[in-house]
Amino acid sequence: MTSLPKDDQRASVSSQTDIISADDRIQLIGLTRSEMEDLFVSWGEKPFRARQIWSWLHAKLVDDVDAMTDIAKLFRARLKTLCAPFTLTESAHLISKDGTQKWLMALDDGQEIETVFIPDEERGTLCVSSQVGCTLNCPFCYTGAQGFARNLTTAEIVAQVRQARATLHKQQKRITNLVLMGMGEPLYNYDNVIRAIKIFNDDAGLAFGLRKITLSTAGVVPRMLQAGRAVGVNLAVSLHSVNDRVRDQLVPINRKYNLAALQKAAKAYPLRGKKRITWEYVMLDGVNDSLADAKAFAQWMRGIPSKVNLIPFNPWPGTPYTPSDRAQIERFQEVLRHAGYVTVIRDSRGDDIEAACGQLKGALRNVRPRKIAQNC
Ligand code: SF4
Repeated sequence: MTSLPKDDQRASVSSQTDIISADDRIQLIGLTRSEMEDLFVSWGEKPFRARQIWSWLHAKLVDDVDAMTDIAKLFRARLKTLCAPFTLTESAHLISKDGTQKWLMALDDGQEIETVFIPDEERGTLCVSSQVGCTLNCPFCYTGAQGFARNLTTAEIVAQVRQARATLHKQQKRITNLVLMGMGEPLYNYDNVIRAIKIFNDDAGLAFGLRKITLSTAGVVPRMLQAGRAVGVNLAVSLHSVNDRVRDQLVPINRKYNLAALQKAAKAYPLRGKKRITWEYVMLDGVNDSLADAKAFAQWMRGIPSKVNLIPFNPWPGTPYTPSDRAQIERFQEVLRHAGYVTVIRDSRGDDIEAACGQLKGALRNVRPRKIAQNC
């Protein structure tokens, strides 16, 4: 059995990405199966070892190397020396009376992120974070208002799903869908997010079909098409207005990639089969909720396979916005439906456990918004 120096072994996996723990060991759950295979081959092992370890880690959700009983003792010893078991620490786990569950997860450096499980009749959706905080500072969003700390590693993204799946399995509940829609802008952590999606999709492990995974973006236009070609998952876009002047305020990245650029990227996005792009639209009283806004929205979506989620605004302390009233949201919905678009008013879920993005961390840690943004 040949052996490479530790630094070379790490370099053989990737010199670009964050797969090394603070204690200088490789975070195995942050590798794709082919990367794991390359790593083990570089150690002089047979490629099938990767399939064995993969199955323990991602199908059986086992972290303890000593419990991997069909693996030779010598190889197990080597794994323990060079590779770190990787788990997030649960700082809090709350279950709402409507069944929504939310975890506050602590990372090795003491930062915290949120992961949310939202069950409904037919499916169970896990909302996964990709960054600690967010750089984009959308003024209606509590996560954005708390500022940005750092990108998550691939292992930190994957661990959210492994750990939630293990906990939910004990409750006889199942995650059927994944949405990268938690804290952060996934396309600003592109490499780690794409690698995590490949790990989620691997049919020998977590085995989520690409049709069951949704990538959400505020509109990082150059990365949208790139991600579509790399992994071809469903796409959701935080739109919130089809007026550049208003969207410049609500989604500041619009100043860089405006609505025309976003529309062009959406038309080019490689959708699977009959899938459609989901437009997320938070309903803010007097800001973006008029019937003229609805008509302009319907016009703007023409030529793009689309469906719409209307999101009643969930106010947080200090926000300058107020929620649209229900009757106005329903009138807005009717205009879009009449124009032929499937339009859903999203129920507010988990209100009793601060389930909206960033709110649990804010409530438990007394994190205050960095600044109160101006209304548009
Ligand atoms: S809405 Fe999304 S992109 Fe905007 S600040 Fe919040 S987490 Fe970031």
